[in-house]
Amino acid sequence: MEKTRDVVIIGSGPAGLTAAVYAARANLQPLMIEGVEAGGQLMLTTEVENYPGFIDGIMGPELMERMRKQAGRFGTEFLTDNVTSVDFSTSPFEVKTSDQSFTAHSVIISTGASARMLGVPGEKELLGHGVSTCATCDGFFFRDQELLVVGGGDSALEEAIFLTKFASKVTVVHRRDTLRASKIMQDRALNNPKIDFIWDSVLTEIFGNGKVAGARLKNVRTGDESEIAAGGVFVAIGHTPNSSLFEGQLELSGGYIVTKREGTETSVPGVFAAGDVVDFRYRQAITAAGMGCMAAIDAERYLEAQHDG
Ligand code: NAP
Repeated sequence: MEKTRDVVIIGSGPAGLTAAVYAARANLQPLMIEGVEAGGQLMLTTEVENYPGFIDGIMGPELMERMRKQAGRFGTEFLTDNVTSVDFSTSPFEVKTSDQSFTAHSVIISTGASARMLGVPGEKELLGHGVSTCATCDGFFFRDQELLVVGGGDSALEEAIFLTKFASKVTVVHRRDTLRASKIMQDRALNNPKIDFIWDSVLTEIFGNGKVAGARLKNVRTGDESEIAAGGVFVAIGHTPNSSLFEGQLELSGGYIVTKREGTETSVPGVFAAGDVVDFRYRQAITAAGMGCMAAIDAERYLEAQHDG
């Protein structure tokens, strides 16, 4: 495998794979270091119905498989490994995995974000069996059930409102007695007759035999414990951008990589970023793909300018 590359892409969700399609078609022979859990958040999704071009929807993993094949068709090389360190202090840049080192004239970062989890007993075991981090993806499976949503931000209320389309009742459990969500979302949720709130409370356990049956709650003010029956628990306590590799190398804000307003360039010229590691606002496959396209075009122009200069 060639060790000096024009473009190294780190991460293989919709942003990275779209960047790969564009960079490969520009003859830049990109290397994609795709991570050992390749494909990003869509690999944890079932049906995707809002990605344009798929009239009847498509399964998340299949969409990623198709994007990967498309990127490969134009000459993207894939390495299934995690990046362990980067050095952006001098150009060309250095990108290392556990046993290989690459020199890159430009880098596109598309490492995505991960949903934050509660870390309580039962959560991991029941993930995909009633515990979910995505109402849009899984809400459909909870018709006429009573559901819990954990969190007090816009995501939690958005999920709760969305879930009322299917559920018989949605209870939002929040650790404080004031919501962090925007006023408009608060008004909508508080006025929705299918939504109840349990304040000042946290989940201490999610239980069920192969399938969520309910949760144990603790009131953080009084210490009182109780149980609540539920067919599903939606954890909506935010996302963590996968950016720890870049701390001290790139400008970050709240963990998200900061890019220039007019494009995808980071605080280091020649290093570009796209998708959920940058974007906390939209977080959609299609917006990530769009940013991936932008990053590849930005990288191509950067390389051309270097060459001309
Ligand atoms: P967020 O604003 O960070 O809210 C996370 C919520 O989860 C907070 O209420 C927080 O409680 C709670 N939380 C965090 N860790 C917890 C834990 N370990 N146990 C229990 N509760 C915990 O995250 P978000 O709602 O995902 O929103 C992220 C950004 O996207 C925000 O800027 C938001 O406005 C935006 N967004 C906008 C929309 C929209 O406009 N339609 C929709 C979704 C997201 P505390 O309040 O006590 O900290």
